[in-house]
Amino acid sequence: MVDNGIIAPGGTIGILGGGQLGRMLASAAAEMGLHAHIYCPEKDAPAAEVAAQFTCAEYDDEAALTRFAESVDAVTYEFENVPAETARILSEHGIVRPGPVALATAQDRIVEKHFMQAHGILTAPFADVSDEASLMDAVSSIGTPSVLKTRRFGYDGKGQAKIMSPEEARAAYDEIGRAPAILEGFVKFEREISVIVARGLDGETAAYDPVENIHKNHILDRTLAPAALPKAIADEACAIAARIANELDYVGVMGVEMFLLPKQGSKRRLLVNEIAPRVHNSGHWTMDACAVSQFEQHMRAVCGWPLGSPRRHSDAVMTNLIGDEVNAWEHLSREPDTAIHLYGKAEARPGRKMGHVTRLYPLGKRPPVTPS
Ligand code: AMP
Repeated sequence: MVDNGIIAPGGTIGILGGGQLGRMLASAAAEMGLHAHIYCPEKDAPAAEVAAQFTCAEYDDEAALTRFAESVDAVTYEFENVPAETARILSEHGIVRPGPVALATAQDRIVEKHFMQAHGILTAPFADVSDEASLMDAVSSIGTPSVLKTRRFGYDGKGQAKIMSPEEARAAYDEIGRAPAILEGFVKFEREISVIVARGLDGETAAYDPVENIHKNHILDRTLAPAALPKAIADEACAIAARIANELDYVGVMGVEMFLLPKQGSKRRLLVNEIAPRVHNSGHWTMDACAVSQFEQHMRAVCGWPLGSPRRHSDAVMTNLIGDEVNAWEHLSREPDTAIHLYGKAEARPGRKMGHVTRLYPLGKRPPVTPS
């Protein structure tokens, strides 16, 4: 099924992780005449019910991983915390896309920041924290306010503590469990934006229009597509995302989160906050507002197909349905020009992403802010 690294229709893509991203990837694969095989330790995985095959096993189960790798034409993943040993075992048995360099870079905030620095991409000021002495050094060099984050495994604001004055540093370090950390200067950004970029097997890149992201309780609440930005800034954001993908020799879709700083004189600057080596929540609007969604685009890249156009045919506002917000499904499904996507999760726990809606508008007609 694999010829020159290209996987034709009829091939099987293994997906590590069984959440909503895996579910939407598996659905896109099916639309392309491919089969999806989900691998994850959770029994009631949202992705499993839309996939052709499902392996329920731990990420360190070498025998199960080997069988999985041998049953598919390529493996991809829906989350960045794939253990290095899991990635190693899988790549010994076949193709893993995106590759290990992207995974290692995105898994560790310090490695990620050094990568950006090495390629002249601006970030928040940062310092490495490995013990109390380096914490104190970091606080004196970075200053306050600042944010202490675990190097690994942070998401939706977890593993993070803000430090308003040097006296708060120890308590913040305790709060994040004294794990290896990074101290970042607190950025007084004007807006948060992101770019969903794809890079194909042949090195071609395609970026969707930058979008603005609004968070509630550290969780993405809404994505406004497109972000209202001067063209030069939008182009710069896309160019930064493409450069990162090229430098990582990336294959697949990647989310690049950025901070837009307030205007200083005539200049505005963009800082990269973090990259996600996978499809991204701030790209869900592409399912309804573009001919080729981020999920299809990722599958195209992973399979070595030509990338699709990232052109937007509508403006859009994507709103996440968190916890019991999903109970409004009936009311939401009566709204005109609104696509509803539910993830099939049984229990609507607080903070749990249960689904999303995308409200579509004619090009150029997106309201500046919509009720959440
Ligand atoms: P992260 O897990 O790095 O994406 O951080 C989660 C959220 O915390 C971001 O979307 C920002 O809203 C905020 N944040 C993270 N890092 C910083 C920073 N250095 N300065 C200001 N806000 C930040």
